[in-house]
Amino acid sequence: MEFEGKVALVTGAGSGIGKATALRLAAGGARVGVLSLAAPEVEATIAQIAANGGKAIGLTADVADEAAMGTAVNQLVSAYGRIDIVVANAGINGVWAPIDDLTPAEWDTTIRVNLRGTYLTLHLAVPHLKRAGGGSIVIVSSINGTRTFSTAGATAYSATKAAQVAIAQQLAVELGRQGIRVNAVLPGSIATSIGESTLRRNTDSVRFPVEFPQGTIPLSRESAGKSEDVADVIAFLASDAARHVTGMPVYVDGGQSLVR
Ligand code: NAD
Repeated sequence: MEFEGKVALVTGAGSGIGKATALRLAAGGARVGVLSLAAPEVEATIAQIAANGGKAIGLTADVADEAAMGTAVNQLVSAYGRIDIVVANAGINGVWAPIDDLTPAEWDTTIRVNLRGTYLTLHLAVPHLKRAGGGSIVIVSSINGTRTFSTAGATAYSATKAAQVAIAQQLAVELGRQGIRVNAVLPGSIATSIGESTLRRNTDSVRFPVEFPQGTIPLSRESAGKSEDVADVIAFLASDAARHVTGMPVYVDGGQSLVR
């Protein structure tokens, strides 16, 4: 029970990596604020945590909406009194298209959810971590934009994922004296529902042709990772076992970004 007495906020916890993380932290004894855009997926995560004997409350909000996020964070603190762990995970792939085809509105949508959403999550939660006397923040970035640049058309997405690592490292310095650690996990291909938030348009025209006859992931060849593979690393970073680790980008990709 490494998270006994701790309260965690997990955004995008209705699916994929966020859901696996909420379940993992709750299994470790944390009381979890399960935040996501759609109420039904929030309810499903909470029901699963409760069925496993854990504690969680549901928070329905758009991470990029200041008022909705303010309400959600206040709800969590009213329910459980504190916040110790923040997992800024909610994100979308958005539209993948050549730069001269990607519209300003499409660009803005990806930046809004992935970057403004991360900013608002931390902006609103950090005062509570300070009040708790310290804590741990984990930002879910990606191999895209940090080591991998061969995902055709993903310019907006890659820009947000690179910026999230910069945010983690900047804040690791700024918040260190308050005992707040800030790390990033950088997943490779993970089997989740994120494909449903991806629209590809004319990406073949900008794809640089490369072949991987033995697959793209040294540890698993063709098989994508599982959300739980990422959740376990997030749990480590959130736990006291990582007490001297901050400002670290941690790749969780089976070696994928080393070859692609
Ligand atoms: P997913 O689509 O399965 O889950 C994303 C969750 O975020 C969903 O619950 C969704 O409702 C929620 N969400 C989306 N927009 C939101 C908003 N505006 N406000 C609140 N909640 C919102 O995706 P996933 O694969 O689990 O992705 C989670 C994170 O992992 C993302 O930041 C993504 O960039 C990152 N990531 C995923 C992969 C992968 O291969 N799946 C790889 C690298 C990085």
